[in-house]
Amino acid sequence: MNITDIGSGLRDLASPPGAAEPMPVLFVGHGNPMNAITDNEFSRGWREAGKALPKPMAVLCVSAHWETRGTYVTAMEKPPTIHDFGGFPPELYEVQYPAPGSPELAGETKSNVRSADVGLDFEWGLDHGCWSVFRHIFPGGDIPVIELSLDSTKPPRWHYDLAKELAPLRRKGVLIAGSGNMVHNLGMIDWQAKEGFDWAREANETLKKLIAGENGERLIDYRSLGREVQMGVPTPEHYIPLLYALGLREGGESLSFFNDRTELGAISMTSFRIG
Ligand code: ZN
Repeated sequence: MNITDIGSGLRDLASPPGAAEPMPVLFVGHGNPMNAITDNEFSRGWREAGKALPKPMAVLCVSAHWETRGTYVTAMEKPPTIHDFGGFPPELYEVQYPAPGSPELAGETKSNVRSADVGLDFEWGLDHGCWSVFRHIFPGGDIPVIELSLDSTKPPRWHYDLAKELAPLRRKGVLIAGSGNMVHNLGMIDWQAKEGFDWAREANETLKKLIAGENGERLIDYRSLGREVQMGVPTPEHYIPLLYALGLREGGESLSFFNDRTELGAISMTSFRIG
């Protein structure tokens, strides 16, 4: 598949509007970058999730690791693999995820969003929030992937509402995925801890109950969800991608959890698929 095919594919699916089944939406907990090159329960969970998905025309990934002032989409034809971390073994820095970009999808995304003037970016690429997971979900690297940045100047509700403007892309065969971690407290990580601390497990359960109960609105104001959630979400960037996934959920759509476990004391890997 080349870029021209992808563009015409998007256009074909756009007509007639609303006719196609919406693509599922994912939220993935990405956790430790080493999951990119480790065969473990999480990477296997991602591979299984990928096999169960209909093949998308392209992927739009909202990663915790691309924070900007203003909102941007990657618009280059060949997004570089960004190794945005330090102190890991050399083999992790050698990983290249060859997925092409999609300037067409970048343009579609820009034209769908009204609440922000989405900028077309030619500098970023795919950070590890995206490629460490998608090299397992779509190991072939043949499905185009673009990223949408997080405007760090905006409050949680703004992101939840912006997600709704992306909804038409689902009916054009685009898989939208948020990549972060529901519970993510780097300052409290214990690298020896197999499971999460009690508070991390409680925060995970509290969030899961609200997610399963279609309480998207209550999840926006995460600071009001008790001490455990406050400890689990000390900064917003790993949580906000969750709000993008929830903002895209249509009434009555199914939701199923996978990789539902806490680890390293202060990280939840819990992920879900909508639709
Ligand atoms: Zn991360």
